[in-house]
Amino acid sequence: MRRQVIEKLEILADAAKYDASCASSGGTRKNSPTGIGNSTGAGICHSYTEDGRCVSLLKVLFSNVCIYDCAYCVSRRSNEEVERVAFTVKEVVELTMGFYKRNYIEGLFLSSGIFGDADTTTEKLVAVARSLRHDHLFNGYIHLKVIPGASPELLTEAGRLADRLSVNVEIPSEAGLKQVAPEKDYHQVFAPMGHVRDRIDAAREERQKDRRAPRFAAGGQSTQLVIGATPETDRQILELTDGLYSEQKLRRVYFSGFVPLGGDDRVPDPESYRAPLHREHRLYQADWLLRKYGFDLDEVAPPGSANLDSDIDPKTAYALRFPTLFPVDVNTAPIEWLQRVPGLGIRSSKRIVAARRRGTVRWDDLRAMGVVMKRAQYFLTTPDHKPHLIGSDPGAVRRRIVGGKAEAPQLSLFAPAPLVMPAPLAKAAPLAKAA
Ligand code: SF4
Repeated sequence: MRRQVIEKLEILADAAKYDASCASSGGTRKNSPTGIGNSTGAGICHSYTEDGRCVSLLKVLFSNVCIYDCAYCVSRRSNEEVERVAFTVKEVVELTMGFYKRNYIEGLFLSSGIFGDADTTTEKLVAVARSLRHDHLFNGYIHLKVIPGASPELLTEAGRLADRLSVNVEIPSEAGLKQVAPEKDYHQVFAPMGHVRDRIDAAREERQKDRRAPRFAAGGQSTQLVIGATPETDRQILELTDGLYSEQKLRRVYFSGFVPLGGDDRVPDPESYRAPLHREHRLYQADWLLRKYGFDLDEVAPPGSANLDSDIDPKTAYALRFPTLFPVDVNTAPIEWLQRVPGLGIRSSKRIVAARRRGTVRWDDLRAMGVVMKRAQYFLTTPDHKPHLIGSDPGAVRRRIVGGKAEAPQLSLFAPAPLVMPAPLAKAAPLAKAA
Protein backbone atom coordinates (compact mmCIF):
# COMPACT_ATOMS: atom_id res chain seq x y z
CA MET A 1 0.00 0.00 0.00
CA ARG A 2 1.35 3.44 -0.85
CA ARG A 3 2.73 5.41 2.09
CA GLN A 4 0.47 8.39 1.39
CA VAL A 5 -2.64 6.22 1.44
CA ILE A 6 -1.57 4.59 4.71
CA GLU A 7 -1.12 8.02 6.27
CA LYS A 8 -4.56 9.10 5.08
CA LEU A 9 -6.02 5.86 6.41
CA GLU A 10 -4.52 6.48 9.85
CA ILE A 11 -5.98 10.00 10.01
CA LEU A 12 -9.40 9.23 8.54
CA ALA A 13 -9.91 5.97 10.45
CA ASP A 14 -9.01 7.78 13.67
CA ALA A 15 -11.55 10.52 12.93
CA ALA A 16 -14.23 7.92 12.17
CA LYS A 17 -13.83 6.17 15.52
CA TYR A 18 -16.15 8.70 17.23
CA ASP A 19 -19.10 7.36 15.30
CA ALA A 20 -20.73 4.80 17.59
CA SER A 21 -22.57 2.92 14.87
CA CYS A 22 -19.80 0.37 15.04
CA ALA A 23 -17.33 -0.12 17.86
CA SER A 24 -13.81 -1.48 18.06
CA SER A 25 -11.51 -2.22 20.99
CA GLY A 26 -9.25 0.73 20.16
CA GLY A 27 -6.09 -0.85 21.60
CA THR A 28 -2.63 -0.02 20.23
CA ARG A 29 0.30 -2.43 20.25
CA LYS A 30 3.38 -2.21 18.06
CA ASN A 31 4.99 -5.15 16.33
CA SER A 32 8.39 -6.35 17.59
CA PRO A 33 11.29 -7.33 15.27
CA THR A 34 10.62 -11.01 15.92
CA GLY A 35 6.85 -10.86 16.32
CA ILE A 36 3.93 -10.81 13.96
CA GLY A 37 1.16 -8.21 13.60
CA ASN A 38 0.25 -5.04 15.45
CA SER A 39 -2.91 -3.28 16.52
CA THR A 40 -2.37 0.25 15.26
CA GLY A 41 -5.54 1.93 14.04
CA ALA A 42 -6.14 0.94 10.45
CA GLY A 43 -9.85 1.49 10.31
CA ILE A 44 -11.05 -2.06 10.88
CA CYS A 45 -13.77 -2.22 13.50
CA HIS A 46 -16.16 -4.84 14.75
CA SER A 47 -19.87 -4.37 14.55
CA TYR A 48 -22.62 -6.66 15.85
CA THR A 49 -25.61 -7.72 13.82
CA GLU A 50 -29.14 -8.16 15.22
CA ASP A 51 -28.57 -11.92 15.49
CA GLY A 52 -25.32 -11.45 17.42
CA ARG A 53 -22.79 -12.08 14.64
CA CYS A 54 -19.58 -10.07 14.80
CA VAL A 55 -18.80 -8.36 11.49
CA SER A 56 -15.52 -6.66 10.61
CA LEU A 57 -15.86 -3.39 8.72
CA LEU A 58 -13.47 -0.88 7.23
CA LYS A 59 -14.69 2.24 9.03
CA VAL A 60 -13.32 5.48 7.60
CA LEU A 61 -14.16 9.03 6.68
CA PHE A 62 -13.84 10.00 3.03
CA SER A 63 -12.45 13.32 4.24
CA ASN A 64 -12.03 15.15 7.53
CA VAL A 65 -12.30 18.55 5.83
CA CYS A 66 -15.51 20.16 7.04
CA ILE A 67 -17.21 23.48 6.49
CA TYR A 68 -19.03 23.20 9.84
CA ASP A 69 -17.72 23.95 13.30
CA CYS A 70 -19.59 21.57 15.61
CA ALA A 71 -17.98 21.99 19.04
CA TYR A 72 -18.26 18.26 19.90
CA CYS A 73 -16.48 17.02 16.75
CA VAL A 74 -12.79 16.42 16.15
CA SER A 75 -13.19 17.37 12.47
CA ARG A 76 -14.70 20.80 13.23
CA ARG A 77 -13.43 23.63 11.06
CA SER A 78 -11.73 25.49 13.91
CA ASN A 79 -9.72 22.50 15.18
CA GLU A 80 -6.16 23.27 14.14
CA GLU A 81 -4.80 20.14 15.85
CA VAL A 82 -5.72 17.75 13.05
CA GLU A 83 -4.17 17.38 9.64
CA ARG A 84 -6.78 17.69 6.86
CA VAL A 85 -6.81 15.00 4.19
CA ALA A 86 -9.20 13.41 1.73
CA PHE A 87 -9.20 10.10 -0.09
CA THR A 88 -9.96 9.80 -3.75
CA VAL A 89 -12.85 7.54 -4.76
CA LYS A 90 -10.34 5.11 -6.30
CA GLU A 91 -8.33 4.93 -3.05
CA VAL A 92 -11.33 4.00 -0.90
CA VAL A 93 -12.43 1.43 -3.46
CA GLU A 94 -8.94 -0.11 -3.66
CA LEU A 95 -8.61 -0.20 0.14
CA THR A 96 -11.98 -1.87 0.50
CA MET A 97 -11.32 -4.45 -2.21
CA GLY A 98 -7.78 -5.10 -0.95
CA PHE A 99 -8.93 -5.68 2.64
CA TYR A 100 -11.91 -7.71 1.50
CA LYS A 101 -9.82 -10.02 -0.69
CA ARG A 102 -7.42 -10.59 2.21
CA ASN A 103 -10.43 -11.52 4.33
CA TYR A 104 -9.77 -8.65 6.78
CA ILE A 105 -13.25 -7.17 6.43
CA GLU A 106 -16.77 -8.03 5.39
CA GLY A 107 -17.84 -4.54 4.47
CA LEU A 108 -17.39 -0.79 4.46
CA PHE A 109 -18.70 1.93 6.78
CA LEU A 110 -18.14 5.26 5.03
CA SER A 111 -18.80 8.70 6.48
CA SER A 112 -17.28 12.11 5.80
CA GLY A 113 -16.83 15.68 6.89
CA ILE A 114 -18.87 18.03 4.72
CA PHE A 115 -16.64 19.66 2.11
CA GLY A 116 -18.13 21.94 -0.56
CA ASP A 117 -21.81 21.27 0.02
CA ALA A 118 -24.06 18.33 0.89
CA ASP A 119 -24.41 17.15 -2.73
CA THR A 120 -20.67 17.38 -3.48
CA THR A 121 -19.90 15.26 -0.40
CA THR A 122 -22.71 12.77 -0.97
CA GLU A 123 -21.70 12.35 -4.62
CA LYS A 124 -18.25 11.13 -3.49
CA LEU A 125 -19.71 8.63 -1.03
CA VAL A 126 -22.15 7.37 -3.64
CA ALA A 127 -19.35 7.17 -6.24
CA VAL A 128 -17.40 4.83 -3.93
CA ALA A 129 -20.43 2.56 -3.46
CA ARG A 130 -21.23 2.72 -7.21
CA SER A 131 -17.72 1.69 -8.20
CA LEU A 132 -17.64 -1.13 -5.62
CA ARG A 133 -20.98 -2.53 -6.73
CA HIS A 134 -20.74 -1.99 -10.50
CA ASP A 135 -17.03 -2.03 -11.39
CA HIS A 136 -15.93 -4.63 -8.83
CA LEU A 137 -19.20 -6.54 -8.35
CA PHE A 138 -18.68 -6.17 -4.59
CA ASN A 139 -21.45 -7.91 -2.68
CA GLY A 140 -20.17 -7.17 0.82
CA TYR A 141 -21.90 -4.91 3.31
CA ILE A 142 -21.94 -1.15 2.68
CA HIS A 143 -23.11 1.43 5.24
CA LEU A 144 -23.16 5.04 3.99
CA LYS A 145 -23.72 8.23 5.94
CA VAL A 146 -26.40 10.50 4.57
CA ILE A 147 -25.51 14.17 4.52
CA PRO A 148 -28.49 16.40 5.44
CA GLY A 149 -29.37 18.63 2.50
CA ALA A 150 -28.34 16.11 -0.18
CA SER A 151 -30.70 15.88 -3.16
CA PRO A 152 -33.41 13.18 -3.16
CA GLU A 153 -31.89 11.71 -6.37
CA LEU A 154 -28.55 11.10 -4.65
CA LEU A 155 -30.26 9.67 -1.57
CA THR A 156 -32.21 7.32 -3.79
CA GLU A 157 -29.05 6.11 -5.52
CA ALA A 158 -27.31 5.75 -2.12
CA GLY A 159 -30.17 3.56 -0.90
CA ARG A 160 -30.01 1.38 -4.02
CA LEU A 161 -26.29 0.76 -3.48
CA ALA A 162 -25.98 0.54 0.32
CA ASP A 163 -27.26 -2.01 2.80
CA ARG A 164 -27.75 0.60 5.48
CA LEU A 165 -28.00 4.39 5.52
CA SER A 166 -27.65 6.61 8.54
CA VAL A 167 -28.13 10.29 9.12
CA ASN A 168 -26.78 11.42 12.48
CA VAL A 169 -29.02 13.57 14.68
CA GLU A 170 -25.99 13.94 17.01
CA ILE A 171 -27.34 16.50 19.50
CA PRO A 172 -30.65 15.39 21.04
CA SER A 173 -32.44 18.78 21.14
CA GLU A 174 -32.77 21.91 19.04
CA ALA A 175 -31.62 24.10 21.94
CA GLY A 176 -28.58 21.87 22.48
CA LEU A 177 -27.65 22.00 18.79
CA LYS A 178 -27.91 25.82 18.83
CA GLN A 179 -25.44 25.85 21.69
CA VAL A 180 -22.76 23.66 20.09
CA ALA A 181 -23.41 23.93 16.33
CA PRO A 182 -25.39 27.13 15.63
CA GLU A 183 -24.79 26.93 11.85
CA LYS A 184 -26.76 23.70 11.64
CA ASP A 185 -30.52 23.39 11.24
CA TYR A 186 -31.91 20.77 13.65
CA HIS A 187 -34.92 19.99 11.47
CA GLN A 188 -32.85 19.53 8.31
CA VAL A 189 -31.73 16.13 9.64
CA PHE A 190 -35.25 14.75 9.60
CA ALA A 191 -36.00 15.49 5.93
CA PRO A 192 -33.56 12.87 4.52
CA MET A 193 -34.65 10.45 7.25
CA GLY A 194 -38.25 10.77 6.08
CA HIS A 195 -37.20 10.33 2.45
CA VAL A 196 -35.20 7.18 3.25
CA ARG A 197 -38.07 5.80 5.38
CA ASP A 198 -40.58 6.29 2.54
CA ARG A 199 -38.25 4.68 -0.01
CA ILE A 200 -37.61 1.70 2.28
CA ASP A 201 -41.36 1.22 2.72
CA ALA A 202 -42.00 1.58 -1.04
CA ALA A 203 -39.22 -0.89 -1.93
CA ARG A 204 -40.58 -3.41 0.57
CA GLU A 205 -44.06 -3.16 -0.93
CA GLU A 206 -42.71 -3.47 -4.47
CA ARG A 207 -40.68 -6.55 -3.52
CA GLN A 208 -43.74 -8.16 -1.97
CA LYS A 209 -45.40 -7.92 -5.38
CA ASP A 210 -42.28 -8.77 -7.38
CA ARG A 211 -39.17 -10.34 -5.80
CA ARG A 212 -37.04 -8.92 -8.65
CA ALA A 213 -37.84 -5.31 -7.67
CA PRO A 214 -34.67 -3.51 -6.48
CA ARG A 215 -33.82 -3.37 -2.79
CA PHE A 216 -33.45 -0.08 -0.97
CA ALA A 217 -31.25 0.06 2.17
CA ALA A 218 -32.40 -3.42 3.14
CA GLY A 219 -30.62 -3.11 6.50
CA GLY A 220 -32.73 -0.04 7.34
CA GLN A 221 -31.48 3.28 8.65
CA SER A 222 -29.90 4.25 11.94
CA THR A 223 -28.67 7.35 13.75
CA GLN A 224 -26.35 8.42 16.54
CA LEU A 225 -27.02 10.68 19.52
CA VAL A 226 -24.14 12.32 21.38
CA ILE A 227 -24.67 12.08 25.15
CA GLY A 228 -23.22 14.56 27.61
CA ALA A 229 -22.06 17.41 25.35
CA THR A 230 -25.33 19.26 26.01
CA PRO A 231 -27.68 19.11 29.02
CA GLU A 232 -30.57 16.91 27.77
CA THR A 233 -31.91 14.43 30.32
CA ASP A 234 -32.27 10.69 29.72
CA ARG A 235 -36.05 11.15 29.52
CA GLN A 236 -35.61 13.73 26.72
CA ILE A 237 -33.13 11.47 24.94
CA LEU A 238 -35.46 8.48 25.19
CA GLU A 239 -38.44 10.57 24.05
CA LEU A 240 -36.52 11.42 20.90
CA THR A 241 -35.37 7.81 20.52
CA ASP A 242 -38.92 6.51 20.85
CA GLY A 243 -40.12 9.00 18.22
CA LEU A 244 -37.33 7.97 15.86
CA TYR A 245 -38.44 4.35 16.12
CA SER A 246 -42.15 5.02 15.79
CA GLU A 247 -42.21 7.89 13.27
CA GLN A 248 -39.01 7.44 11.26
CA LYS A 249 -38.98 3.64 11.64
CA LEU A 250 -35.26 3.60 12.40
CA ARG A 251 -33.67 0.21 12.87
CA ARG A 252 -31.26 1.42 15.57
CA VAL A 253 -30.43 4.50 17.60
CA TYR A 254 -26.84 4.52 18.90
CA PHE A 255 -25.71 6.49 21.92
CA SER A 256 -22.22 7.91 21.95
CA GLY A 257 -20.88 9.32 25.20
CA PHE A 258 -19.29 12.68 24.42
CA VAL A 259 -15.50 12.52 24.35
CA PRO A 260 -14.07 15.91 25.37
CA LEU A 261 -11.38 16.99 22.97
CA GLY A 262 -10.49 20.33 24.51
CA GLY A 263 -10.03 23.68 22.87
CA ASP A 264 -13.71 24.65 22.67
CA ASP A 265 -15.52 26.19 25.62
CA ARG A 266 -19.00 25.50 24.19
CA VAL A 267 -18.70 21.90 25.48
CA PRO A 268 -17.55 20.45 28.85
CA ASP A 269 -13.88 20.76 29.63
CA PRO A 270 -11.74 17.56 29.61
CA GLU A 271 -10.30 18.45 33.04
CA SER A 272 -13.63 18.38 34.86
CA TYR A 273 -15.64 16.01 32.65
CA ARG A 274 -15.89 12.23 32.87
CA ALA A 275 -17.11 10.32 29.81
CA PRO A 276 -20.66 9.11 30.67
CA LEU A 277 -20.02 5.42 29.94
CA HIS A 278 -22.37 4.19 32.65
CA ARG A 279 -25.12 6.51 31.43
CA GLU A 280 -24.58 5.33 27.87
CA HIS A 281 -24.94 1.73 29.13
CA ARG A 282 -28.24 2.50 30.94
CA LEU A 283 -29.58 4.20 27.79
CA TYR A 284 -28.76 1.11 25.74
CA GLN A 285 -30.60 -1.04 28.31
CA ALA A 286 -33.63 1.28 28.11
CA ASP A 287 -33.46 1.27 24.30
CA TRP A 288 -33.44 -2.55 24.39
CA LEU A 289 -36.64 -2.55 26.49
CA LEU A 290 -38.34 -0.22 23.98
CA ARG A 291 -37.27 -2.19 20.93
CA LYS A 292 -37.34 -5.79 22.06
CA TYR A 293 -39.47 -6.14 25.18
CA GLY A 294 -42.56 -4.12 24.28
CA PHE A 295 -42.14 -1.51 27.02
CA ASP A 296 -43.65 1.95 26.55
CA LEU A 297 -41.53 5.05 26.95
CA ASP A 298 -43.42 6.09 30.12
CA GLU A 299 -42.78 2.69 31.70
CA VAL A 300 -39.04 2.96 31.10
CA ALA A 301 -38.61 6.66 31.87
CA PRO A 302 -41.65 8.09 33.69
CA PRO A 303 -43.00 11.48 32.54
CA GLY A 304 -41.34 14.27 34.50
CA SER A 305 -38.30 12.14 35.37
CA ALA A 306 -34.82 13.31 34.48
CA ASN A 307 -32.18 10.60 34.28
CA LEU A 308 -32.43 6.81 34.57
CA ASP A 309 -31.55 5.27 37.92
CA SER A 310 -27.79 4.79 37.79
CA ASP A 311 -27.76 2.09 40.52
CA ILE A 312 -30.17 -0.38 38.92
CA ASP A 313 -31.06 -1.38 35.39
CA PRO A 314 -34.24 0.13 33.86
CA LYS A 315 -36.21 -3.15 33.99
CA THR A 316 -35.58 -3.59 37.72
CA ALA A 317 -36.39 0.09 38.25
CA TYR A 318 -39.73 -0.48 36.47
CA ALA A 319 -40.54 -3.53 38.66
CA LEU A 320 -39.78 -1.53 41.80
CA ARG A 321 -42.03 1.32 40.64
CA PHE A 322 -44.90 -1.14 40.11
CA PRO A 323 -44.47 -3.65 42.97
CA THR A 324 -48.15 -4.72 42.90
CA LEU A 325 -47.59 -6.31 39.47
CA PHE A 326 -45.08 -8.73 41.01
CA PRO A 327 -44.24 -11.48 41.81
CA VAL A 328 -45.17 -13.23 38.56
CA ASP A 329 -46.07 -16.93 38.60
CA VAL A 330 -43.66 -18.57 36.13
CA ASN A 331 -46.05 -21.48 35.60
CA THR A 332 -49.03 -19.42 34.45
CA ALA A 333 -47.87 -15.95 33.31
CA PRO A 334 -48.01 -15.10 29.58
CA ILE A 335 -44.59 -14.84 27.96
CA GLU A 336 -44.96 -11.05 27.67
CA TRP A 337 -45.10 -10.87 31.47
CA LEU A 338 -42.22 -13.28 31.98
CA GLN A 339 -40.09 -10.97 29.85
CA ARG A 340 -40.89 -8.11 32.21
CA VAL A 341 -39.36 -9.94 35.18
CA PRO A 342 -35.89 -8.56 36.02
CA GLY A 343 -33.35 -11.29 35.35
CA LEU A 344 -35.48 -13.02 32.68
CA GLY A 345 -34.54 -12.36 29.09
CA ILE A 346 -36.31 -13.27 25.86
CA ARG A 347 -34.44 -16.55 25.59
CA SER A 348 -35.01 -17.66 29.19
CA SER A 349 -38.70 -16.71 28.95
CA LYS A 350 -39.03 -18.92 25.88
CA ARG A 351 -37.26 -21.72 27.73
CA ILE A 352 -39.71 -21.42 30.63
CA VAL A 353 -42.70 -21.57 28.29
CA ALA A 354 -41.24 -24.67 26.59
CA ALA A 355 -40.50 -26.29 29.97
CA ARG A 356 -44.05 -25.61 31.18
CA ARG A 357 -45.35 -27.88 28.44
CA ARG A 358 -43.42 -30.74 30.03
CA GLY A 359 -44.31 -30.06 33.66
CA THR A 360 -44.26 -27.67 36.59
CA VAL A 361 -41.28 -25.32 36.64
CA ARG A 362 -39.49 -25.10 40.00
CA TRP A 363 -36.69 -22.98 41.47
CA ASP A 364 -33.90 -25.32 40.42
CA ASP A 365 -35.30 -25.63 36.91
CA LEU A 366 -34.92 -21.87 36.55
CA ARG A 367 -31.32 -22.00 37.71
CA ALA A 368 -30.62 -24.84 35.30
CA MET A 369 -32.09 -22.70 32.50
CA GLY A 370 -29.57 -19.96 33.24
CA VAL A 371 -32.02 -17.45 34.79
CA VAL A 372 -30.20 -14.69 36.70
CA MET A 373 -31.75 -15.64 40.05
CA LYS A 374 -29.85 -12.97 41.94
CA ARG A 375 -32.35 -10.42 40.61
CA ALA A 376 -35.25 -12.58 39.43
CA GLN A 377 -35.80 -14.21 42.86
CA TYR A 378 -37.71 -11.15 44.16
CA PHE A 379 -40.09 -10.92 41.23
CA LEU A 380 -41.23 -14.47 40.41
CA THR A 381 -42.90 -17.38 42.14
CA THR A 382 -42.61 -21.14 41.72
CA PRO A 383 -44.31 -23.80 43.85
CA ASP A 384 -41.18 -23.92 46.03
CA HIS A 385 -40.32 -20.20 46.01
CA LYS A 386 -42.74 -17.59 47.34
CA PRO A 387 -41.01 -14.23 47.75
CA HIS A 388 -42.84 -11.73 49.95
CA LEU A 389 -40.54 -8.73 50.07
CA ILE A 390 -41.62 -7.05 46.80
CA GLY A 391 -45.21 -6.81 48.11
CA SER A 392 -44.37 -5.69 51.62
CA ASP A 393 -41.20 -3.61 51.24
CA PRO A 394 -40.01 -2.79 47.68
CA GLY A 395 -37.45 -0.41 49.19
CA ALA A 396 -35.78 -3.36 50.90
CA VAL A 397 -35.65 -5.23 47.58
CA ARG A 398 -33.90 -2.25 46.05
CA ARG A 399 -31.40 -2.08 48.89
CA ARG A 400 -30.63 -5.78 48.56
CA ILE A 401 -30.16 -5.59 44.81
CA VAL A 402 -27.97 -2.52 45.02
CA GLY A 403 -26.09 -4.02 47.95
CA GLY A 404 -25.81 -7.40 46.22
CA LYS A 405 -27.54 -9.36 49.03
CA ALA A 406 -29.85 -12.20 48.06
CA GLU A 407 -33.23 -12.84 49.68
CA ALA A 408 -33.25 -16.29 51.29
CA PRO A 409 -35.65 -18.56 49.39
CA GLN A 410 -39.00 -18.81 51.20
CA LEU A 411 -39.32 -22.28 52.67
CA SER A 412 -42.65 -24.03 52.42
CA LEU A 413 -43.84 -26.14 55.31
CA PHE A 414 -44.99 -28.72 52.83
CA ALA A 415 -42.21 -28.48 50.26
CA PRO A 416 -42.24 -31.82 48.42
CA ALA A 417 -38.56 -31.71 47.55
CA PRO A 418 -35.43 -30.13 48.98
CA LEU A 419 -35.11 -26.53 47.76
CA VAL A 420 -31.47 -26.80 46.84
CA MET A 421 -30.39 -29.94 45.11
CA PRO A 422 -26.78 -30.71 44.24
CA ALA A 423 -26.18 -29.16 40.82
CA PRO A 424 -25.83 -32.43 38.85
CA LEU A 425 -29.04 -33.74 40.39
CA ALA A 426 -30.87 -30.49 39.66
CA LYS A 427 -29.88 -30.71 36.00
CA ALA A 428 -30.94 -34.32 35.76
CA ALA A 429 -34.20 -33.96 37.73
CA PRO A 430 -37.20 -34.39 35.40
CA LEU A 431 -39.83 -31.68 35.56
CA ALA A 432 -42.93 -32.73 37.49
CA LYS A 433 -45.99 -33.20 35.27
CA ALA A 434 -48.28 -30.22 35.09
CA ALA A 435 -51.57 -30.65 36.91
S1 SF4 B 1 -20.77 18.49 10.16
FE1 SF4 B 1 -20.17 16.50 10.93
S2 SF4 B 1 -18.01 16.28 10.40
FE2 SF4 B 1 -18.52 18.46 10.23
S3 SF4 B 1 -17.97 19.34 12.20
FE3 SF4 B 1 -20.15 18.82 12.30
S4 SF4 B 1 -20.21 16.73 13.15
FE4 SF4 B 1 -18.09 17.12 12.47
